[in-house]
Amino acid sequence: MRYPIIITPDERLRRQAKPVKVITDELVQLLDDLYETMVAHDGIGIAAPQVGKNLQVAIVEVEEDDRFEMINPEIIASSGESLDVEGCLSIPHTFGTVKRADEITVRYFDREGEEMEVEAFGYLARAMQHEIDHLNGVLFVDKLVERIPEEDLEKYMEEHEND
Ligand SMILES: [Zn+2]
Repeated sequence: MRYPIIITPDERLRRQAKPVKVITDELVQLLDDLYETMVAHDGIGIAAPQVGKNLQVAIVEVEEDDRFEMINPEIIASSGESLDVEGCLSIPHTFGTVKRADEITVRYFDREGEEMEVEAFGYLARAMQHEIDHLNGVLFVDKLVERIPEEDLEKYMEEHEND
């Protein structure tokens, strides 16, 4: 099932999401539906609050077929710093640079209930931080360094290709 995406401003994007206590069939279904919704919107990440589910569940897929389904994710280590452009399915036509850690270690549970620990770098680390922020009611525009007008996006990407 494909969910409609909640768009700002909406209080449901500003809540502290609740930890998942038990992985039920319903939760596994939510993961599938979140993924379907993300792909339908050409997203590289999605968090449950964006579809009105107040749960600590997020998905990131920066590279095709490299999907991270994170239940109760927690950043347990971070280092470095990087500045890059972000957007958000919940904030259409808005883009801008955000400063993030360049390298993080995330601990979470997968759909099997297995505890995972993943080290992520670069844009994957960025996407994970963006989605985990959603679970704390934080949006990328809260951390915006510089807004990039949509029509300048391509130009910006070309200029910063090798950063
Ligand atoms: Zn977002």
